[in-house]
Amino acid sequence: MKRKLRVRQAQTVLPFGVGAVLDIQGESFVAAGIETWPRLKTPVSSERLAARLGVKGFFAAPHTLNDRYDQPDRPGVPYVRFPGWLFCGACRTMVRFLYEREKPGEPPVCTSCAAAPRLTPMRFVRICPDGHLDDVDWWYWAHSKLAPEVRASCSEAKHAWKARRLSFRVADRASGLEALSVRCSATRQDGKPCGAERDLLDILGPQGGRCSGRNPWQRWHENASCGQQVHVVQRTAGNVYYPVVHSALDIPQSAEPPWAEQDAAQAVLGHPYWTILLDALGTSRADTFRGLIKEDTGACDSLIDQLVAEATGSPAPPAGRPGPEEIDLSRDEWYAFDAAHLPEPTKEFAIRRGGLGLKGETEEPWATLDAHIGGVVLVDRLREVRALAGFRRYSPGGTLVPADTSGRLRWLPATEVYGEGIVLALDEQRLTAWENDPRVQAHVRGVRTDLDASFRGEQLAETVGSDLSPRFLLLHTLAHLLIRQLSFDSGYTTASLRERIYGRPEYGQRGLLVYTAAGDAEGTLGGLVRQGEAPHLAETLIRMLEAAAWCSADPLCAEHTGQGFGNLNRAACHACTLLPETSCQTGNTLLDRALVVGSAHVPGYFTDVLTASREYAAATALGGTP
Ligand SMILES: [Zn+2]
Ligand SMILES: [Zn+2]
Ligand SMILES: [Zn+2]
Ligand SMILES: [Zn+2]
Ligand SMILES: [Zn+2]
Repeated sequence: MKRKLRVRQAQTVLPFGVGAVLDIQGESFVAAGIETWPRLKTPVSSERLAARLGVKGFFAAPHTLNDRYDQPDRPGVPYVRFPGWLFCGACRTMVRFLYEREKPGEPPVCTSCAAAPRLTPMRFVRICPDGHLDDVDWWYWAHSKLAPEVRASCSEAKHAWKARRLSFRVADRASGLEALSVRCSATRQDGKPCGAERDLLDILGPQGGRCSGRNPWQRWHENASCGQQVHVVQRTAGNVYYPVVHSALDIPQSAEPPWAEQDAAQAVLGHPYWTILLDALGTSRADTFRGLIKEDTGACDSLIDQLVAEATGSPAPPAGRPGPEEIDLSRDEWYAFDAAHLPEPTKEFAIRRGGLGLKGETEEPWATLDAHIGGVVLVDRLREVRALAGFRRYSPGGTLVPADTSGRLRWLPATEVYGEGIVLALDEQRLTAWENDPRVQAHVRGVRTDLDASFRGEQLAETVGSDLSPRFLLLHTLAHLLIRQLSFDSGYTTASLRERIYGRPEYGQRGLLVYTAAGDAEGTLGGLVRQGEAPHLAETLIRMLEAAAWCSADPLCAEHTGQGFGNLNRAACHACTLLPETSCQTGNTLLDRALVVGSAHVPGYFTDVLTASREYAAATALGGTP
């Protein structure tokens, strides 16, 4: 029977999007750039996301029964065999499996063994910080300990990249990488056997040799000249692939914030330099005044262009809309959730006001909890478009390789998903008071310093804002704790829930969205929304706070002054706070339980609630009336 290898459509953005290396039924492939995608594909609309990313639109991979692992010109997303070096587990022969040898529907097999066993992909690959990926030069590795002239005398030296006489040996006496070696059994020019061999003890890490400057689906001539250091890693290692995914929720047009633009326009027109700018137009002084106005009002260039056009009666500039970097997706989304009049439900966006159901409650800890929560919005239906902009390798700070390696296309691969969710907003007054506490400010200043020092600051700015605020850290940690608790209470896996943090004070943000988005246009089952209804949510929150006060890695975790990537986490580890990567907007960084439940050094936003809960529990345990 022919083997069928398939990747689901939703997986073609994450986790198996362009550049990803995937293991499937014992074979290994890499997802090729979108320039190799078939012509027949499904458009996915998201105007806001397209404007933000500066592309014309999005396409999803076509539905298909079999992806193009080894068959060109077929529907489905193309995956290219990688690594190209395979070996036979029986006779240990190494084979550079060339594209010409691919047989549709059949895995590569060993032609030296009578039983024709399947070949296994080599475990090691080469990556560089510019995002390139290639096979290890195994011929060179086997000969790397020899003097250059001896090496050159091997008869395979001229076509080393597809050398035919290599074997991947395993010794019984040693263990680990030392037990593995690559050996050459070619002959030398003088007729003697080559016999070059080197074990893999030192293979991992930085290696000599030039980077090929390309990814496996690119042709030889499509390489970039790359001067980066190459690193050998296992092909399944986490640093082989860091996808860069952007996503946007559909919100109704009516829900987009008119005020922000209008306020900025008013501020520009009322600025003392405005008329001076108009007089100075066309001179070099105009730029100075424009700069000053921008600085004072925060207006963007396109808005000023538009106002100048209106004032001078000249035709409006072609870019009547803001440039990509000026579009902030989170601002619009929060505006919709926080609106005084919630937008009318549409097929893509249906929300209604919920609550903890605790109004007028005097009993503790409920009364104190209620005072800390500013509002609940239930999201019965949402549509999210996720687009893959590209990927990085070696480190999250590596060079971005665009999804279109040809650089000619104006679209990105994307998927649309439907789902449901819960929006939780904190009480603005209490939040501001807590943020103004000097201990909170000092605590967050430390994290901000670490963020500036890490190379992730710029990448995270889209989510975090230009200046990390205490409320972002608080809301982000809260979202993680809530997802963990919801999954504990309701049977959702943590991987099926996601977060969106609205923690930028400059936009009046003070909330978070926990949602599940895996459904099609029919939507999901409403299970998560039910968890957000009274009385479940209040009970979930209290249980969450109790759980968050303690971690099995305490006191180590609680007292940490910097753990996780770039030391960007404080009291937060796998045992208490972290989530699967796909659930988190910031790659599991910028988390700290202390800001939620408090510590010896810093008050938590919910410390009072926790205290009230414990007093109540103690009082009832003693049999008294609380
Ligand atoms: Zn064999
Ligand atoms: Zn040799
Ligand atoms: Zn490179
Ligand atoms: Zn912990
Ligand atoms: Zn997160």
